[in-house]
Amino acid sequence: ASPHVPVCQAASNKPSCKPAVFIPVDRSPEIQEARLKLPILAEEQVIMEAISENPIVIICGETGSGKTTQVPQFLYEAGYASSNGTIGITEPRRVAAVSMSQRVAKEMNLSHRVVSYQIRYEGNVTDETQIKFMTDGVLLKEIQKDFLLSKYKVVIIDEAHERSMYTDILIGLLSRIVPLREKKGLPLKLIIMSATLRVEDFTDNNRLFSVTPPVIQVDARQFPVTVHFNKKTPLDDYSGECFRKVCKIHRMLPSGGILVFLTGQAEVHALCRRLRKAFPFQKNNTAEESVEEIRKFKKSRKRKKVMTLPKIDLDNYSVVPVDEGDEDRDAETDDDIAGSDIDLDLGDGDSEEDEKSDSSLPLYVLPLYSLLAPEKQAKVFRAPPPGTRLCVVATNVAETSLTIPGIKYVVDCGKVKKRFYDKITGVSSFRVTWISQASANQRAGRAGRTEPGHCYRLYSSAVFMDFEKFSAPEITKRPVEDLILQMKALNIEKVINFPFPTPPPAEALAAAEELLIALGALKEPPMTGRLKQQLAAKLSCPISPLGRIMATFPVAPRYAKMLALSRQHDCLPYAITIVSAMTVRELFEEFDRPAVSEEETAKLKGKKARLLQMQRIWAGQGPMQKLGDLMVMLGAVGACEYAGCTRKFCEENGLRYKAMLEIRRLRGQLTTTVNSVCTDAGLYVDPKMKPPTEAQATYLRQIVLAGLGDHVARRVQAEELLDDKWKNAYKTALLDDPVFIHPSSVLFKQLPEFVVYQEILETTKLYMKGVSVVEPEWIPALLPPYCHFGKPLENPPPSYCSETGRIRCHRPSVFYRVSWQLPAVEV
Ligand code: ADP
Ligand code: MG
Repeated sequence: ASPHVPVCQAASNKPSCKPAVFIPVDRSPEIQEARLKLPILAEEQVIMEAISENPIVIICGETGSGKTTQVPQFLYEAGYASSNGTIGITEPRRVAAVSMSQRVAKEMNLSHRVVSYQIRYEGNVTDETQIKFMTDGVLLKEIQKDFLLSKYKVVIIDEAHERSMYTDILIGLLSRIVPLREKKGLPLKLIIMSATLRVEDFTDNNRLFSVTPPVIQVDARQFPVTVHFNKKTPLDDYSGECFRKVCKIHRMLPSGGILVFLTGQAEVHALCRRLRKAFPFQKNNTAEESVEEIRKFKKSRKRKKVMTLPKIDLDNYSVVPVDEGDEDRDAETDDDIAGSDIDLDLGDGDSEEDEKSDSSLPLYVLPLYSLLAPEKQAKVFRAPPPGTRLCVVATNVAETSLTIPGIKYVVDCGKVKKRFYDKITGVSSFRVTWISQASANQRAGRAGRTEPGHCYRLYSSAVFMDFEKFSAPEITKRPVEDLILQMKALNIEKVINFPFPTPPPAEALAAAEELLIALGALKEPPMTGRLKQQLAAKLSCPISPLGRIMATFPVAPRYAKMLALSRQHDCLPYAITIVSAMTVRELFEEFDRPAVSEEETAKLKGKKARLLQMQRIWAGQGPMQKLGDLMVMLGAVGACEYAGCTRKFCEENGLRYKAMLEIRRLRGQLTTTVNSVCTDAGLYVDPKMKPPTEAQATYLRQIVLAGLGDHVARRVQAEELLDDKWKNAYKTALLDDPVFIHPSSVLFKQLPEFVVYQEILETTKLYMKGVSVVEPEWIPALLPPYCHFGKPLENPPPSYCSETGRIRCHRPSVFYRVSWQLPAVEV
């Protein structure tokens, strides 16, 4: 292998280039060859000079240009990593942190002990670690322990264009940490990397950096991508449209991988199944077998005379009308497809004509989404089996974080599934919306990595012009209580003065402070002085001792409060499990997805029935049942661990294996945190914990209530029924609209009078999920800040409109009934 010579030594005659240190890296020839093709290699000298001369540098380059994998290597070679200085790289997505650390370790021929990763649940960091990939949340936690980040020599904030909440906040914090380190004589380098050139929120922001950092643009050696818009107005059935488009590409166009962007896991699976059915391919076969397979396949197709499509004008793809149901239609073959130079290379004596009449290789279809098991995710990086065409059906993860090799065709449905929050109430819903123009261009760019490519947009150019230019930063779109607690733990009291790249809306900040005060995480401001002063005091409360404990747990403040309370009656292991399960979410498989065949419908139905039966068992007997969905979570985790947490057990019982593994890890991590907070707890994880006693189940309900105090709901009584839409409905403290227990809840039919819920999700109605029963007399005892004692107010304070237009009522109104029933409660 030829040793790698840094560009600045080989090519530069500029005196300012200081190749002072050079740490050799032993790369394999294949890796070295692949690296040299990456556009960023040509910029190594410019980048390294900029870094050496500036404390903060911004690097912009197309996805796939080599930022994530190469910049850490440049720094390593230039001696930035050492036994007392790590190169840290943050990623907004866990998938990226794990897979990029593995990739870089492989490229550098170094062990995972040196190039490591840390995500919330796990990591392989050692004392020898010199390059550390982590999620942005992990670095934020580290700042809490060591504000100056003294163990890092360089911090790289990757994927800054995604504008994830923690990335934004890290940039704000680092803008202060970098000068502090400078003062101490231990300079820290900050590198911000972005896939787009839109970095003015970082550069044109005089609150952020005193000196505008240089922006280095990496010219991506991107091949031209021809973008084809659909002529027609977009269809609702974009999945079906994707299917048809993939079929056309696969049958008509030369070899090259296909990447399809859809919005969610269920859609991805449905399309994968449909495509596999249309272009079958047997897994696990060898190359010869797969050639044989293709031959047989072609024969069978010839017999059935499966259609190919009528002639397509490739240069004018968008004008070809979409054939409805073309996959099932019988048609004459067309051997004269423009641009078709399909090379099957079967060598089995098929005639020329034969080849062209049936251009369909088996399609090697792979799903890709963030919840997919890592070993399945890794498959997309490997070459597809010989004689097949790769087709990856992905969600947004493939947009910028991961670059799949060999993609020539992109099919973009133009949509993305996003979680939307009401800034004040925190009510969330998943909505499928149009992407931004920036996203659409990112997606298209994925087709031109290795050769000229094509992007088929399933929407018209007029619709594209109506897209937002960029999507809004996450911090402006979600509740921020977790962020505010972390900031208060850093003693940033006046959050409003923090140098956010884009500040969160004032009402979201106020709602977060209010919640944290109610949870006891912040010291309550004195109720003296004018209202205006009171309000101002509310927005700059210092953290309380309880808040400090809560901030050490890597979970949302509401859950952290539960953990902080659950030392009594040996409830901690159960509280940890419940909190882990609530944090990991989606424990159970989704069986309501659309099926492709009757057979599959029946199978899904059977599996669903089995899951429902198990959930009833996990819900326990008698008083235990009052813990409701949380008891189901406990039971499911307990049962799964009892069976050794195997994939088989999960599949048989409708549990999501990956979720179960994550819960196990999070339980371990929370247990460690508890032990470090209260050193005498001596807690250990007993995977096969016994079910809680009835008394413990009751304590747990109280603990959950204390954490989710603002999530109490009361069933609407007969005399209050305003109209039919309130039948079986609940009233909550935060909303004026009726909410309902989700049909998947074990308490769906019982309709208890008072419940506490984990979250409200808006689908066709507002549904509460993660529900358990609350005894009314607990409320004034455990949640005094939420109660009015005495008579209800005649004129409640004015309500105000929240972002979704829903009226938020004066908080305590729900509890009037409680106070009437309990005049004797002393406070
Ligand atoms: P950027 O960060 O600029 O988007 P990356 O550094 O992630 O670019 O990727 C550079 C190249 O490395 C891409 O061509 C990509 O295909 C390749 N690559 C990244 N991860 C892997 C992997 N796990 N296996 C094979 N190739 C990979
Ligand atoms: Mg990257």
